[in-house]
Amino acid sequence: MTSVALGIPSVRTRPIAERRKSRQIMVGSVPVGGDAPVSVQSMTTTLTADVNATLQQIAELTASGCQIVRVAVPSQDDAEALPIIARKSQIPVIADIHFQPKYVFAAIEAGCAAVRVNPGNIKKFDDKVGEIAKAAADHGVPIRIGVNAGSLDPRLLQKYGKATPEALVESALWECSLFEEHGFRDIKISVKHNDPVVMVQAYRLLAQRCDYPLHLGVTEAGPAFQGTIKSAVAFGALLSEGIGDTIRVSLSAPPVEEVKVGAAILESLNLRERGLEIVSCPSCGRAQVDVYTLAEQVQAGLAGLKIPLRVAVMGCVVNGPGEAREADLGVASGNGKGQIFVKGEVIKTVPESQIVETLIEEALRMAEEMGVEIDLDDEDAPGPEVVVR
Ligand code: SF4
Repeated sequence: MTSVALGIPSVRTRPIAERRKSRQIMVGSVPVGGDAPVSVQSMTTTLTADVNATLQQIAELTASGCQIVRVAVPSQDDAEALPIIARKSQIPVIADIHFQPKYVFAAIEAGCAAVRVNPGNIKKFDDKVGEIAKAAADHGVPIRIGVNAGSLDPRLLQKYGKATPEALVESALWECSLFEEHGFRDIKISVKHNDPVVMVQAYRLLAQRCDYPLHLGVTEAGPAFQGTIKSAVAFGALLSEGIGDTIRVSLSAPPVEEVKVGAAILESLNLRERGLEIVSCPSCGRAQVDVYTLAEQVQAGLAGLKIPLRVAVMGCVVNGPGEAREADLGVASGNGKGQIFVKGEVIKTVPESQIVETLIEEALRMAEEMGVEIDLDDEDAPGPEVVVR
């Protein structure tokens, strides 16, 4: 067996584009905008007034890597639950307010890290902007102006005929201007649409016209598969132009799934350090092992390993050695055997039945050399990212 110096696993940290220069706001302890990393947020699906259920879901979201959480506040009962939720949550809580300006004041008083308002939905909101700006400024609470295609200001709907990119942007900037009149600029903006093309156009336009940090979202993106595709495509287009400071993937699925998708999008674009990444081939007629099972077993075996490690699982000797060499650790299979690579060099060849255990053994050795704590039983640990080549 050859001994190979392990070193630090290679992580591709070069981001995809220079970030748009935006002003920075603080959502509780999380900076948004400026040079802050793009953050991932989600929204609870529980009744906010059900404090225990909401805090339980926030804890699950926190464990999955969510950095900011939003809770809906449609009623007085929900508003009354905010102080305890804001105090007990480990991540900043944003109150999502529609229809009632009085809940904005309640959320600010409750210690929420930010408040989201929808200019299209809050009755007499414009008249209250002065008071809201003062309360928010006094408490250091930023406001998200969250325009949504489905609830566009009727005035703009009439002017543009539908929720065009221009209409969404005009609505957001109009609301911003009202706050600016009161000297308040602690703002972030979203202009969400369910069509990724319209959404991308709206954010591009918005990015040209202001320096506020932008919260990206495709609204009502759909069930997990469709919503993931729509969000990944739209966020990818914008983030690859440097646009976007915080993201929320909206899925008709448990919110933890939104966080996983959001984190994976950022990792794919090198906007967040990658964790454990399994690079596995899609298999084809040349495969000499069951690649799917092999990749699944390696993934399951390393699920709790929290190190930036790229592990290649390849089905044959055509592309296998090349990919395996590029990875920190890899296997190229063939003839009932697996060539095990560490840092580009073959360290041994093992029978097919020992491929999985050998890869896991080597990954643990690498983690240990890096002084990383190993807890493969940690159920909360996000699983590795799987990339199929
Ligand atoms: S490495 Fe490529 S050629 Fe070989 S089995 Fe996998 S997909 Fe097929």
